[in-house]
Amino acid sequence: MHLIASRGCAHQCDFCDNRMTGSTVRRRPVKHVIEEILDLEKRFAAFDLHDFYFWDPSFLAQSPWRDDLLGELAELGRFTWACDGRVDAVSGEMLSEARKAGCHSINFGVETASSRLLLDMRKGITANHVREAFQLCHEEGIRPGALLMIGWPGETHDDVHALKLLLKDIRPTFINVAVATPFPGTRLHERYSEMILPVSAEEYGDYFPERSLFKSLSMDVASVYRELSAYYLQRVNPRGHVSPMGYC
Ligand code: SF4
Repeated sequence: MHLIASRGCAHQCDFCDNRMTGSTVRRRPVKHVIEEILDLEKRFAAFDLHDFYFWDPSFLAQSPWRDDLLGELAELGRFTWACDGRVDAVSGEMLSEARKAGCHSINFGVETASSRLLLDMRKGITANHVREAFQLCHEEGIRPGALLMIGWPGETHDDVHALKLLLKDIRPTFINVAVATPFPGTRLHERYSEMILPVSAEEYGDYFPERSLFKSLSMDVASVYRELSAYYLQRVNPRGHVSPMGYC
């Protein structure tokens, strides 16, 4: 069952559509979140519901709210959950508290192995943050997933190769490969507007998700998706999971 316990993200990645949800993090009272979990458990008792996904962009960001919520979940002790996370917000201590509270998986926005592209995305992380966070998750017994992005303007086949090597280093239990998509209102859309194909809203369905909306890319994103997926399943984690091609 999916839950949203807070909204907003203080980071400013250029591709993100967080202008809809804003840069100020607003957190629901812990009591309300726990009440909702208990209510869902009751309503869906026939399905033995005990596992949740928190769709919050800032769920694991350091805050007294996070610590209180993890404490309440640990006390209840019968729920498991997964969430999204930023690699630069991870510490061994936080992962240990999350694990005690029932966390089994965290999906991280890894995007790319290229420091040039990470800078251009204004992602605010480095490949070393990624390595460290994944290592800590493996040590703590939390399954780390990697949310990847392909088709950023200027991405090369060398960047894709570097991403494969990074995957081998960090051994994600899951990968999601998204195509960089210039949504109106994002800085990606503003900055690269001259590279965007003139696609109408009606035609957009023909592109989503297997073709890039950028012209003059040096790669075909559907081929790169297949290449990365095959590499991951054959060389990194044969028991891993690859989600269908998406967008970001
Ligand atoms: S991609 Fe994630 S970290 Fe970056 S702005 Fe969006 S929600 Fe925040």
